[in-house]
Order: sequence, then C-alpha cells, then structure tokens
Amino acid sequence: MPIYLDNNASTRPLDSVVEAIRPFLETEYANPSSLHRFGQQVRHKVECAREQVAGLISAEPKEILFTSGGTESINLAIRGALAVQPAKRHLLTSAVEHSAVRRLVAQLAREGYQVDEIGVDREGRLNLAELEEKVTEDTALISVIHANNETGVILDAGRVCDIAGRHGICVHLDAVQSTGKVTVDVAQLPVHLLSLSAHKLHGPKGVGALYVRKRTRLVPMTYGGRQERDLRPGTENVPAIIGFGVAAEEAIDPPPERIDSIRHLRDGFEARVQAAIPLAQVIAARADRVCNTSNIGFERLQAEALLILLSERGVYASAGAACSSGSLEPSHVLQAMDIDPKIAHGAIRFSLSRFTTAAEIDRTVRVLVEVIERLSATMAACS
Ligand code: PLP
Repeated sequence: MPIYLDNNASTRPLDSVVEAIRPFLETEYANPSSLHRFGQQVRHKVECAREQVAGLISAEPKEILFTSGGTESINLAIRGALAVQPAKRHLLTSAVEHSAVRRLVAQLAREGYQVDEIGVDREGRLNLAELEEKVTEDTALISVIHANNETGVILDAGRVCDIAGRHGICVHLDAVQSTGKVTVDVAQLPVHLLSLSAHKLHGPKGVGALYVRKRTRLVPMTYGGRQERDLRPGTENVPAIIGFGVAAEEAIDPPPERIDSIRHLRDGFEARVQAAIPLAQVIAARADRVCNTSNIGFERLQAEALLILLSERGVYASAGAACSSGSLEPSHVLQAMDIDPKIAHGAIRFSLSRFTTAAEIDRTVRVLVEVIERLSATMAACS
C-alpha cells in the first residue's frame, strides 16, 4: 500500500462523509430553492450543514456562505471587501501566502491597488512591527494566511487583529490549513472574513465556505440567483455541502489525543530523519506549527528528483505547494524565510493526517535514507 503524506494538498474523505453524500447523488436531488416539499427537504439539509460548518469556528449559521472552495472564498473576501471601500486603495498581506491570495493581489496591483507584502523571519513568523508600520489611512484590508500550507507555521492571528482593530481595518484570514488542526474560534478572534475548504479536513473537493462576520459588508463578484444571501449566486453543490457539514462536525474540537498523536509521529519522523541523514534540515523547526506538517530541506539535492524516487517506492509527498510543483524555482515561502537556496531546492513537504500510522513513518524513514544515499552516490559519481 502506498504511503500518503500529502495531506496538505488534499485529505482522504471520511467514510461518514462518503455515506452522507450518497443519497444526495441518488434520491435527494431536488433544488433547495424549489418551494415544493422535496426541495424544502433538501434546503433543510443544506441549512443543517451550514450549522455544522458554523460550529467548527463558533460562528452563527447566517455568517457562513458556501462557495466552491478556498480559492473562491478568498477571491470573494478580498475583492468583495475592497469593493465596499472604493476610496481606499491599499492592502496588506504577507510574503508567504498561498497562490490563491498571492496571484489575486498581483492582479489587484495591476488594477492600481498598492499592495505591501509583510516579511517573515527565518522561522516563517510574520514581522508584526513591519505590519503596523505599513498601515496607512488608505489601508482597506489585511489578508493573511493562518497556518502556512508549506511549513505549517501558525501566524499570531490575535495580534494581527489587534493591529487592525486599532486602525479600524478589515481582516481576512486564510484558515484553509488551520481549521481542524488548531482551534479557530471567531467568537474570540475578531476577524471579519475567514476562508475555509472542505477537502483539507477530510471532506469533499470543490466546496468551501466564507465566514462573513455580522455587519461586515461585501460586494458580490458574480450575479445570478438569490442564493447565499445574494453574495454567491448559483444552485448549491448540495452533495458536497452535505459532505462538508459532516467533515466539519468531525473536526470540531478534535480530541487532544488525536492532535498529540499526529504531532508525536511528525516530531519522531523529523528526529529520525535528522539523525540518519546529515544533509537534512527541518524548516521552521522552532516556530509554532500545526501538528501534521514537516518541511525538510535536503542540502544540495533536487526536490523533484527526490519526489520521483519516493513516489516510485510508494511514498507520496510534495515539493512546497502542490500547485507550484513542476516548477524548479524554490518556493516563494522558503525564499521569504531566507532559506539557503542549496537547502530550499531540496525541500520536501511531508504532511500527515489522522490516518498516518507509526509503521508508515518507519517505512518512510527507511525509504528516504535509501533514496538519499542513492542520489548522493549518483551526484558523487558525476562530480
Ligand atoms: N489557502 C491555502 C492555505 C491552501 O493550502 C489552499 C489549498 O491548497 C487554498 C487556499 C485553496 O483552497 P482550495 O483548494 O479549496 O481552492
């Protein structure tokens, strides 16, 4: 059986998610906007799913909009929040965002917005002093990633909200990688907008949510029917929404033993890799990280070559973000952290889940040692 260590790219849907979806593909196919009883039964189930997703972040159900995933939530949040403040043309983000934010703000810069990217230190931690310094009268929005998809580093969202609060600025949090791994509680954390995605927490792909705090205004990006409070028109993807609800409920307050056991496997993996492979360097080892993510740089090796050899031996991991694999450039996240390019070029992200076992970690360490020995020998023979 292959070993799947690419859970930050996508996770295995839970059996309960798959079972919950099935009737909505087979028999419960009415449109939830239809007024007949069949449609209203489906509407009721969609609203139950909204309650489940709201529960995951301690929101109110009416503050949850269903979307097609993290990317759409992010686009609606950022563009929608900017459009209600047309006089303000400045936004702040970090240098380590996912491409969903990064490419959107690059487009906004082409459209005339002034965008400032706040730097991080060598452990991937946001420079909060720089964030505060860069705030201006013209700042409309701060959008930051909560848990980094490549390194797992958790940003101090509370302090970002403090800074934004002092200046009356709207905050969007990309919580796609943090929900289900750390507590995300909007009753405690005064963000205005927060993006979620189901397939990162054992739900289906192609469905996400945008949390919109009460009284936060947004302009829709698309026009059509009256669904999702007029902010996200189009017939709802009911099967996926139902699956998201179940996955969200399963992810609420994960038992500390589950988180601890993933962390224990991850930490043991890193310790053993470092002991066995002198070329290995754990990235952001000293930062506060989500329990499942390990990014390890193998000095002077190429991530692509390593990934292919690992994949041939049944170990599935990623180089940086899945979306950027295929490119030989070291990831912008590792560059922003000022990681030595000799290490960044050979950086592999291993991301675990509740399904990862100790036996899989044992085997991964053995395979990794073998693959690195082989690659190092090939390099020595060529030089
Ligand atoms: N934000 C982060 C931090 C992510 O890791 C991802 C997916 O990798 C996204 C946003 C995009 O989410 P989706 O795949 O649901 O569009």
